[in-house]
Amino acid sequence: MKKYKLSTRAIHAGQEPDEATGAIMTPIYASSTFVQQSPGVHKGYDYSRSGNPTRTALENCMASLEDGQWGFAFASGLAAENAVLDTLEAGSHIIAMEDMYGGTFRLFDKVKKISAALEVTYLDLNNEQELENSIKGNTRLIWVETPTNPMLTIVDLQKVAALAKKHGILTVCDNTFASPVLQKPFDFGIDVVVHSATKYLNGHSDVIAGIVVVKDDRELAEKIKFIQKATGGILSPFDSFLVLRGLKTLPLRMKAHCSNAKKIAAFLENHPKVEKVIYPGLESFPQHELAKKQMKDFGGMITFLLKGGIEESRRFLEKTKLFALAESLGGIESLIEHPAIMTHASIPKEMREKLGVADNLVRVSVGLEDIEDLLEELEEALRVV
Ligand SMILES: *Cc1c(COP(=O)(O)O)cnc(C)c1O
Repeated sequence: MKKYKLSTRAIHAGQEPDEATGAIMTPIYASSTFVQQSPGVHKGYDYSRSGNPTRTALENCMASLEDGQWGFAFASGLAAENAVLDTLEAGSHIIAMEDMYGGTFRLFDKVKKISAALEVTYLDLNNEQELENSIKGNTRLIWVETPTNPMLTIVDLQKVAALAKKHGILTVCDNTFASPVLQKPFDFGIDVVVHSATKYLNGHSDVIAGIVVVKDDRELAEKIKFIQKATGGILSPFDSFLVLRGLKTLPLRMKAHCSNAKKIAAFLENHPKVEKVIYPGLESFPQHELAKKQMKDFGGMITFLLKGGIEESRRFLEKTKLFALAESLGGIESLIEHPAIMTHASIPKEMREKLGVADNLVRVSVGLEDIEDLLEELEEALRVV
């Protein structure tokens, strides 16, 4: 089949009109089991934990959008991550970005360390010397998140992937913040992409879902398929349908998220009540050049420091309305949150401080509302700081 451009694939990849009825949208195949013509002879599906046509459409669409070979859909981003970790032997060593999603850290530190004796070293993956020095005989995986959460640090995917290849180590990139519209980890040599599809991929804040895409390692893909079936953390047909629907507008939505975020970042940077703005699209962002090289645009997430401390931050966060005070990100609506108290509370305080997750640090997920309304609201809320 012809390889169409991304926006076309977001609408069509993995999806054919329904053979039985001609339905143009992939139906929600709400069926746990499938009738067989003869024992063991069926149309490719036997039981929905192993495979379901609605899920298959989503998995194939995501594989296409990431330019990988195989996609797998899970009940959450963390279930997807867990399936990747389950491919490792007990006692394996992982090197991970020190600034990462709190739930990923918790999965490593509070679950896999105990259940699979996984050893994890956290460091700044951009420090090549430290990265190389931390590789050990049992290092099997380098876990990258870029841009990171909440500091939006960019990890140089090409450098990390090249070093990993040299040592025969698998690389995983959590591509949640960028989405395949803004960043293609496989182009830089990464082996596996994971997503919290809860965020930009679904994009409408009404589903929890996760995705794994494998670039070209068939053996690894088979392992993940087996783990998906054997441990059962699958995405339901209904949620698969919703994510598939969300994907159709992903390229359009990302464009609008980036456009609004750019304007808000510039507004905040010029505001006297704001101490500092962290946004990869700003000239003042230390890794702006790397972000330009690695990403097509700079995304919808902005982190900034208010002038003041926890009290000023609290007052400000109580004041916004369109920017709803809530965890999560990547939906059509704008959200605002306080990482130190909310999303990153599971990261130990010393580590938070080292990373710069301060008490006056605020993170916004810029939505698709009219930019004038968003700017007006921020202006008003900043008056209480
Ligand atoms: C939300 C998130 C996850 C976890 O995904 P869930 O769908 O909530 O399980 C993982 N990584 C990043 C970067 C996230 O933002």
